[in-house]
Amino acid sequence: MCGIVGIFGHPEAGKLAYLGLYALQHRGQESAGIVAADGRELRRHAGMGHVSELFSREVLAGLTGDSALGHVRYSTYGDSNPANAQPFLMQYYGGPIAVAHNGNLVDAGIVRGELEAEGAIFQTTTDTEAILHLVARSREPDVVDAIVGALRQVRGAFTLAFLVPGRLIAVRDPMGFRPLSLGRLEGGWVLASETCAFDLLGAERVKDLDRGEVLVVDVAGVHSFRPFPPARPAPCAFEHVYFSRPDSLLFGRSVQAVRKRLGEELHREHPADADLVVPVPDSGNFAAIGYARASGIPFDMGLTRNHYIGRTFIEPTVEIRNFGVRVKLNPVREILDRKRIVLIDDSIVRGTTSRKVVQLCRDAGAREVHVRISCPPTVGPCYYGIDTPRRDELIAARHTLEEIRAHVGADSLGYLSLDGMLGAMDAAPDTFCTACWTDQHPVTIPRAEAEQLRLFDGEAR
Ligand code: SF4
Repeated sequence: MCGIVGIFGHPEAGKLAYLGLYALQHRGQESAGIVAADGRELRRHAGMGHVSELFSREVLAGLTGDSALGHVRYSTYGDSNPANAQPFLMQYYGGPIAVAHNGNLVDAGIVRGELEAEGAIFQTTTDTEAILHLVARSREPDVVDAIVGALRQVRGAFTLAFLVPGRLIAVRDPMGFRPLSLGRLEGGWVLASETCAFDLLGAERVKDLDRGEVLVVDVAGVHSFRPFPPARPAPCAFEHVYFSRPDSLLFGRSVQAVRKRLGEELHREHPADADLVVPVPDSGNFAAIGYARASGIPFDMGLTRNHYIGRTFIEPTVEIRNFGVRVKLNPVREILDRKRIVLIDDSIVRGTTSRKVVQLCRDAGAREVHVRISCPPTVGPCYYGIDTPRRDELIAARHTLEEIRAHVGADSLGYLSLDGMLGAMDAAPDTFCTACWTDQHPVTIPRAEAEQLRLFDGEAR
């Protein structure tokens, strides 16, 4: 869970990267950072917290130069601490190099162990630093060749952007798990994890990077090549269901349009006799619009999300029923009272939150709560950069549909089928990663890695 923005060829590159990170804040709220380059030197500011908290006017004034690289992070590999905030900036034999990473390597611990055994000293606990070590050990005279050589030695999900004096370099792994798009900016170029950043920057979308594509941006323009052997496509379908912003174009598709179609299909597969369609905001909003449109049942915002909780809040010592969820979601009694509702959400992971949300709706007077989920049951963990729990913590991996319905306290429960989900995405089978729902992982995690990370319950294959 991370967001990347890169700017090349604009006198206010640092400030534009800052704005781009604002648009990508939903992709990671733990830490953020920007490295700016003026052709000779690279300067960095990074730390824990939100973009708005980290970059003052003075800090931005120091990030001078016509290219910049920004990152927002939510840790899925490595701890949440300041040392792990990206972009990393390091010196190697070729000079300064900065890197920002979205995705997870599946063999990072093994690669790191081998490097440490040969004397490498790591400053962070991330998988990204292992890539930098491999770049630094390369004998290739050109940094692009060194990067490609390093990435040939690792497996998993890596969408990366590197900044060196005079060049911005971007790479998507051969399966293309995580997105990256190229845009045109007045006088320059922009790279971003999602196209919603282009809108804020006034940039025009040029293209999505292809799977396995390496893009080098320099004063001569944009150069593209594909140095990796071909592999099956595996862009993350969950980006469309939940993670990305609805105003983004992702993997060539409009996120909001896909989500509405997920909702329409969900109604076809699991109709409900009800008075109102209510989303669990925000990720359920567009699927609920689709469900309401297909069913003819009115749509209303029966739950309100509080976006301004911040990173820490102090729980009261007196017990307030469902406090943890109520601080984020509050039911609107005037809307829900005496209604039979269809509650649309994007997933049930452990089941704890869904159970509380159903109870909130009942407490606010809902007579019936029919839960509908806009993707199939979550039965597999993610090893590619989304923070889903171990398999044994996933309720659908251990329980039947009826048991889950009883646990969350719904009157009925329906999940969209895999075919329905892929149909709504206009995607052929095996053209996306769907391991969350099939437990068939396009890149398996080595047993030694799984044991080292205690990632899941010893079921590595
Ligand atoms: Fe996306 Fe799920 Fe695949 Fe992870 S396992 S990349 S979340 S579809």
